[in-house]
Amino acid sequence: MKESSRTAPYVCFSCRKQFERNWDFNTNFKKCPECGETTVRYDHKFRVPKRTDDAQWKKVEFLRDHGFYFQRVYDQGDEGGLQYANYPKDLNEARDFVVKYQEFAITIE
Ligand SMILES: [Zn+2]
Repeated sequence: MKESSRTAPYVCFSCRKQFERNWDFNTNFKKCPECGETTVRYDHKFRVPKRTDDAQWKKVEFLRDHGFYFQRVYDQGDEGGLQYANYPKDLNEARDFVVKYQEFAITIE
């Protein structure tokens, strides 16, 4: 069987860009190819904001600082099952989000 290489978005907060790179299971961090700062691996669901969109980047940084890298977060569904929760649209929503979904926060090392 041919091994397919998996890629993941690595986010540079200095460049405000994401780089699709091979997913190295040994590290969640890679050097930014443009500025040399450390980039962090994000979930595929992450959509990089526009470079000039300060408000969105503040939200992303806030979420990151609280352990949210756009990994999946769940809600109790109406029929008892679990359903994916949506990530917050702005910083205000993010403040509630990190409290409500605290149990899903992760530490990336
Ligand atoms: Zn960079």
